[in-house]
Amino acid sequence: MIMPKENVIVLGDIDKQLLGLTDQHIHYLTNDNAVRAVQASSKPQMGIHQQMCTAFETLRQGAETVGLELKIASGFRSFDRQLQIWNNKFIGNTAIKKTNGETVDISRLSDWQIIEAILLYSALPGASRHHWGCDIDVYAPNLLASGESLQLEPWEYQESGPMEKLSTWLTQHAADFGFYLPYDCYRGGVAEEPWHLSFAPLAKQYQATFTLKALHDCLLNSDIAGKAVIIDNLTEIAQRYINNTNTSDLSLIQSHQKLTKQNRTTHG
Ligand SMILES: [Zn+2]
Repeated sequence: MIMPKENVIVLGDIDKQLLGLTDQHIHYLTNDNAVRAVQASSKPQMGIHQQMCTAFETLRQGAETVGLELKIASGFRSFDRQLQIWNNKFIGNTAIKKTNGETVDISRLSDWQIIEAILLYSALPGASRHHWGCDIDVYAPNLLASGESLQLEPWEYQESGPMEKLSTWLTQHAADFGFYLPYDCYRGGVAEEPWHLSFAPLAKQYQATFTLKALHDCLLNSDIAGKAVIIDNLTEIAQRYINNTNTSDLSLIQSHQKLTKQNRTTHG
């Protein structure tokens, strides 16, 4: 309908981008999420992939036509930022949440049980889709009552929650703009995340480039808490928390088909 999906190319060092070791592919947004250049002096907060700016703006405008003020709660995150989140949760500085919003008591858990508890909502550094820049957590501030703040918890996006209208719209229309929900439901790994959007043309390229070897080497050289147990269980972590996302989305399939067709035309 809108996006020239087959024309989006990942530029630069994709291996470093994949692991969150660079922000060379990122465009930083101003505080109001408007896609425009920021002053070097103002500290950039929210970043998205340079090749996704137009697509995001089109999505934002699409949401606006039905009265939804689409904003990004979380965009690009570096390896170091994800490492900080991870380590704070592992050592108990930051609460680890369950699906129902309750805090996990980690005092009697083994390292592996803590790792499983963290992975429900927080990715392993080096394996976060937020490293890619083409994945964003979204909300609509105009759906919040005054004084109400967003927790990014599932109930908020479910029936009778403040973000229900946004969630319904995203489920029905995100694909029209090239976006999809990789965590549309619980698959035994990451919890359902109705706020997390992936821009398919870019995400599928990052996903295809991911290797366990690169992640393994990156983590081995990092100061990650729980390192030994993580390294020992990396294959299972990848199966449960990294590779099993929603791939049934139409926009993924359609753009893939287009590419395949194009390749056949070019080379055949
Ligand atoms: Zn997210």
